[in-house]
Amino acid sequence: MDTENIVGILHAAGYPITADQSKADISLVNTCTFIEGSTHESKEVLDELSNNGKNLIIAGCMAQRFKGELFKQYPQAQAVVGTGNIKDILNVVKTVTLNLNSGIESKIVKVDDIPMAVADSKVPRLNTQMGPSAYIKIAEGCDHRCTFCIIPYLRGDMKSRTIEDILDEAKLHVQNGIQELVLVSQDSTAYGTDIYKKKALAELLEMLADKSGAKWLRLMYAYPQQLTEEMLDVIREKKNIVNYIDIPLQHASKKILKAMHRPSTVRDTVELIRKKLSDGAIRTTFIVGFPGETDSDFDELYDFVKESSFDRVGVFTYSKEKGTQAYDYENQVPEDVKLKRKERLMLLQQKISFNKNKSYIGKKLDMLVEHLEHHENNALKVVGRSFRDAPEIDGQLYLNVKDNQKTPQPGSFINVKVISCNEYDLYCTL
Ligand code: SF4
Repeated sequence: MDTENIVGILHAAGYPITADQSKADISLVNTCTFIEGSTHESKEVLDELSNNGKNLIIAGCMAQRFKGELFKQYPQAQAVVGTGNIKDILNVVKTVTLNLNSGIESKIVKVDDIPMAVADSKVPRLNTQMGPSAYIKIAEGCDHRCTFCIIPYLRGDMKSRTIEDILDEAKLHVQNGIQELVLVSQDSTAYGTDIYKKKALAELLEMLADKSGAKWLRLMYAYPQQLTEEMLDVIREKKNIVNYIDIPLQHASKKILKAMHRPSTVRDTVELIRKKLSDGAIRTTFIVGFPGETDSDFDELYDFVKESSFDRVGVFTYSKEKGTQAYDYENQVPEDVKLKRKERLMLLQQKISFNKNKSYIGKKLDMLVEHLEHHENNALKVVGRSFRDAPEIDGQLYLNVKDNQKTPQPGSFINVKVISCNEYDLYCTL
């Protein structure tokens, strides 16, 4: 979304935008540095562009974290723009362009110490994604201080957008043909506690379900202890909110959760979701190899995953991030042990996921068509998702279209019958 706002602002000001780096005068990279892997990915892109001699503007989390230090590593960088400085992007690009045209190098640092800005519905946004879904950021930043996490230091405390402003943006997406709105933030369940002095997620969900016109609404990043019965009731009762909860639980061992500064009541949370959304899908993530994690802590997590039968599980190895509290913790777990634990947990989840998928064979599901794919022998496959699948991270539904059948088009909803599956995806007929 930040990227879409950055591109939207520049596009609205008349700057031509291209995704083809060879045609660009300035390459703007919105970076991530949440964990080692994401920093590595961002650096790979910056290295490649630097090696091609591109003039760079570095935005996002790496800019926020490393500020002017990035100029040493990337001499072609003309500016660094922090996470709370999206509003400054136009002036930065103007100055960099003027300087480059006059043969002057720019070294601009636009990084607020405490990022306070969150883009509202009035900030121009250009949808860079294809397909029938759009993300809406309902808040920015986080008030928690999980000991492994760098995000609050890069994004600041939570800043919620107003319900009215989010609704305006939602309506705009729907007018532009979007079918599914995916609500994101760092901690969606705490939405509203800053501006309304109370948890306002249930109210927001209800308003969006009733007034936005979206066919599907999906909630991401719930925080375990803060998920309330009221929120789950709204999800169950509103037909256009999908029966899906994304709730990063991170671990199951009370000792490790305590060391992470996370709630240790993960079992109660899962029980509450199962009670309220009996047919609902649960996605979660876990971190393995957190400092001090013993074999027995890992076994506890393994057993918890086995018992809980989640629909989707993401597993990350602990990433030691400078600036976080856990960075200095003793008993860091060796990398090979982390990787082995990750593999074991993923293999377990693959089996669970396969069994879950098998339980859908013979059942009917609503499918949101995302795109069409040509396979071997020119066979046409319709690709989409059900309520159980968030865009980009979960599985997909595949549908073979017979010659005598009309091909469902991207953006449409169809009812399909599941005929087979693998660990991740379902295969269907009309
Ligand atoms: S709740 Fe999420 S974003 Fe906030 S500190 Fe914890 S892990 Fe980071």
